[in-house]
Amino acid sequence: MECGVARLKTLRPRLVLQSNRLTVAAEPSWRSGKTSTQRGYGYRWQQARERYLLDNPLCVYCARKGMTTAASVVDHIVAHQGNPDLFWNQANWQALCKPCHDSEKQREEAAAGQRGR
Ligand SMILES: [Zn+2]
Repeated sequence: MECGVARLKTLRPRLVLQSNRLTVAAEPSWRSGKTSTQRGYGYRWQQARERYLLDNPLCVYCARKGMTTAASVVDHIVAHQGNPDLFWNQANWQALCKPCHDSEKQREEAAAGQRGR
């Protein structure tokens, strides 16, 4: 299985590889060069995001490390790539502080890209 997947990787990057998670992949191209509004982070998202942060005010990554940090970002656990179901599904959201979102998430996405998990 690993070998077959590895071979497919060059042809169909990452889409197949994550089928054991609930997703589609973190393909960087869809968001490059777009504003947040073009990505779907429009007014409706701002509203939903603020409500979510009221209910989930703490960074979940920091909480895992035993720290209590106010969250300021609602992150999609699975990259939604413009998929509205993933985008609006709150089960796919997590509250993060900015530093965690910028550092840990990037690392996770980079790792996902390399390992295709
Ligand atoms: Zn944090």
